[in-house]
Amino acid sequence: MTAITMKARLVRALYVLVVVAVLPFLIWNGFIQQVSAEWNDIIVRLRGAQATSATGAVALVAIDDQTAARYGPLPLNRARLAEGLEVLAQAHPRVVVLDLLLSEAGEPSQDARLARSLGHFPHVVLGAALEGDASENPRWILPLPELAQGRSTAHVHAAPDADGDVRSVLLVKAGSARRFWALGFEAVRLATGADRPLESAEAVSLGPIRIPATDSESRLMMINYAGPEGAFPRVRFGDLLDGAANLTQFRDKIVIVGVTAQGSGDRLFTPLSSGIGMSGIEIHANVVRTILDRAFLVPVGASGGFVGSLLLIAICVTAIIYLRGMRLFIALVAVLLVLASAGFLSIRAGYILPLGSFLAVCLAASGIGGISEYALLSRALAGETTKRKEYAFRVQAIAHEIKTPLTAIQGSSEMISEGGMPEQQRTEMAGLIHKESKRLTALIQTFLNVERLASGSLSLQRQDVDLGALCQEIVERGRLYAARKRIQIETAIADIRVSADPDLLSFAIYNLITNGVKYSPKNTTIRLFVEESDSEVRISVADQGYGIATADQERIFEKFYRLKRDERSAEEGTGIGLALVKEIVHQHGGQITVESAPNSGSRFTIALPRGNG
Ligand code: ADP
Repeated sequence: MTAITMKARLVRALYVLVVVAVLPFLIWNGFIQQVSAEWNDIIVRLRGAQATSATGAVALVAIDDQTAARYGPLPLNRARLAEGLEVLAQAHPRVVVLDLLLSEAGEPSQDARLARSLGHFPHVVLGAALEGDASENPRWILPLPELAQGRSTAHVHAAPDADGDVRSVLLVKAGSARRFWALGFEAVRLATGADRPLESAEAVSLGPIRIPATDSESRLMMINYAGPEGAFPRVRFGDLLDGAANLTQFRDKIVIVGVTAQGSGDRLFTPLSSGIGMSGIEIHANVVRTILDRAFLVPVGASGGFVGSLLLIAICVTAIIYLRGMRLFIALVAVLLVLASAGFLSIRAGYILPLGSFLAVCLAASGIGGISEYALLSRALAGETTKRKEYAFRVQAIAHEIKTPLTAIQGSSEMISEGGMPEQQRTEMAGLIHKESKRLTALIQTFLNVERLASGSLSLQRQDVDLGALCQEIVERGRLYAARKRIQIETAIADIRVSADPDLLSFAIYNLITNGVKYSPKNTTIRLFVEESDSEVRISVADQGYGIATADQERIFEKFYRLKRDERSAEEGTGIGLALVKEIVHQHGGQITVESAPNSGSRFTIALPRGNG
């Protein structure tokens, strides 16, 4: 693994860690939860009105602005209320729910008439409200005892979220040592003839209906709205009093009576309300609808959110690491679209996803990932630029190498052509020209060979090679070359045959030996080993020379790369020998490695696979 990929892995691991570390914040942050709620609201609005069996089971009686104008002011006087209820009684509703707080004693005869009118119905639910919160001695506002006697009392509260929207109801509200069931819940209980509700940690059961409202969430039940205001049949209270109402629509139904007049305060915002909010009786009717249709919406809890988020992190991280440009953009947009459709489908299946958290996770993973990938890319780019500059510098150096013999050739040939030169000097000059032009040819030939091998236009001429004999021949040439520095060459060569290009392999081994000579002090020893194992043949050249620092060990195989130390030395070199050796070894399907340390000598090993012919 190279240093760069190590660093890239480290940066990426760190980036994943950061995203996972901020995950709890993204899941439990209030603002992000709000975003989830808003997003789910949009989905609820988009899916439009829901078919519900409750329209046949619930009817509303609205004390609206027109009723107030004719029979007001509000609250209606108790005699009027009783009068309307007496008319309603003729329709034989199953349950009558009064979403009104009848807590203060009125004129005794009127209260008595109201109590009598309630006696006409088989089931009546009266509203109660808890005043004040836990810190300030809460108190239940209860219906008058003569009204409540023998009837059900239930709480009228909705449970608005932080943004004021009512998305759920507390099935049971406790305070001041008492607890009351919600109005809509109690109405369903009476209408279905169920016994007292059964409570477990996970749910509340009303006969066969199991409501997933957990104890840990204070029995909160999400309301699955049937549609905007007006989803249920509705009659004006004033029409009851006028005798203008069609009474048949109340038969056998749950009838919810309450105030809808604007300014009465009994209106709250819901995901489906527009402008003026939804009336209390409509919200209670939707609670009834949710229970009767068993259309429960269960929020996917923290653990589900956590697992989903981890999955999203994995997807976004993979996309960011492996994709670039337009593809990355399309992938991230696709993730968002899938998320939106998942939210839609899950609501249909009865689950509410923490879409805000998921969106935040995607943004965080993409944002942090984008920044770290950008950092990695610009580092790599900076590295590339440096390499390009170095390369340009080295090309200049090689141009200089070429120019030197050319100048010598040019000068000498000019002098020869001018004539009048003694014979001996002329011969010397011709010799110089010959030597320099040979050096130039060899240099250019080597360079071209690397390029041709790498581009594939120079193919190997493989044959069965006697490696022992080949090495002996190379060593003999090498000894001549090493004699100037009185360097010994020792060998340990096994009798091995390989399938290889003899000329190129010979060039590679000879190059390693001449390098050993060039970069070692006088009177040292070079060893050539040739050994084999089951899988490969290894040719090693070990010297007792100046060595190579670890940082340079990869780079010496690059074209034109020379150690700074050797650029200044008297040893001639171009920095392309090892690049060619490496290319030759690769073409043979092998590997070249170097073990070295400054002033401790170097050992280059060519490993060729056996039986690669
Ligand atoms: P050249 O020898 O022509 O400079 P090479 O590509 O063969 O080019 O080698 C590249 C560089 O690697 C050399 O310039 C030298 O700095 C270093 N090098 C090669 N072999 C050895 C060695 N045996 N010991 C120390 N340094 C070496």
